[in-house]
Order: sequence, then C-alpha cells, then structure tokens
Amino acid sequence: MAHELPPLPYAYDALESTIDKQTMTLHHDMHHGAYVKNLNAALEKHPNLADKSAEDLIRDLNAVPEDIRAAVRNNGGGHVNHTMFWKIMKPKGGGDPAGPIADVIKKTFGSFNDFKTKFNDAGAKQFGSGWVWLAGKSGGEVQIITTPNQDSPISQGLYPIMGNDVWEHAYYLKYNNRRPEYLAAWWNVVNWDEINHRFETFKSGKTAHEPALAHR
Ligand code: MN
Repeated sequence: MAHELPPLPYAYDALESTIDKQTMTLHHDMHHGAYVKNLNAALEKHPNLADKSAEDLIRDLNAVPEDIRAAVRNNGGGHVNHTMFWKIMKPKGGGDPAGPIADVIKKTFGSFNDFKTKFNDAGAKQFGSGWVWLAGKSGGEVQIITTPNQDSPISQGLYPIMGNDVWEHAYYLKYNNRRPEYLAAWWNVVNWDEINHRFETFKSGKTAHEPALAHR
C-alpha cells in the first residue's frame, strides 16, 4: 500500500496572518505531495519494504537498500516531518503551553520565554534548509536540536516532540529573507494540545512499535 498525503487538518487560509494561504497551499500540496510521490517511487524498486511505516524506514536507514537510501532519507523524512508539522499547528493556537510539556520546558530551560529564545536562535542559525526541534532522548529528557534538509530526529534515535520548518518554502512568500520574523510569529499558531499528546507518546515509550505517526 502506497504512502498517502494526509489532508491538511484545517483550511489553507486558516493560519492567516501568521502563514499565508499561498504558502500553505504550495507547501502542503506541492512540497509535501512531492515527498510522498518520490518516496513511493523509490519504494517501487523494493516491494518488500511496502508494509513499513515511514517512521520505521527512517529509524534504521542502514537497513534500507543503498540504491534508495538517500531517496528514503530525504522523502521519507520529508513525509514524516510535514505530517507532524501540520498537526502541531492550528488556527487560534499559540499562547503559553500548559500540562506536561509546560513542566518539562520550565524544568529544562528555566522558562517558556527562555525556551522560545533558544529555539528561535537555533532555527535562525541553521544554515540553509532544515528544521529546528524539541526532541526527546532516552531517559525522558528533552533538548533543542537542528537537522539539515529533511533529516529527522528519529534517525538519531530521538523523538520529534515539535519542530519548525526553516526551509525558505515555509516562509519566503510572506517573510522574504526575514527568517527570524517567521520564527517569532510561528508561536501564534502552535497547537499545544497536539504537542502535549506527542510528548505523552514519547514519555510512554511506545514510539518503537507505534504503527504510524505519519498516515499511510
Ligand atoms: Mn517544508
């Protein structure tokens, strides 16, 4: 069964004015759509991998045949990353986090404001295309990391609790070259309920066998 592009969980213009309708349309339909299409095309050469979730494929890239490893890393990663990205945003989101994620942020970074500053700073400094993450590591602690291209924390044995896309395709139409402005505005659409859900999933340790965070 082929991997499928999950529908955007809200209207294309629902995140205005933080993220404009044209950016959301191109980003979801064209960019994420291409990752799914290219992942399926690569997997056609190895039908024995057809039943694996995208997460499982990128969790152990060395187990992926060499002739499609780069394609799976880039496009499988792109599929998993964006599937998360749409869900951790929502219209009228933002505000201060609550619940377990608020507690771990305070414990790790001192305050939500300090966390935001460090997260935005890391995202601004990521050279070229990539992502900035709050990732969970074994032992239950969390850390801010960045990855280039569509590399996922999953490939490093980390759990992607939340991440922001700092590819130019995520912000250039509205913010042009002003990536820090996009990073600062993005918090207005963050969906803390979904991020709490992901944090609980990470803490419960089910991640290794969870069937699929990304839709098939
Ligand atoms: Mn993107």
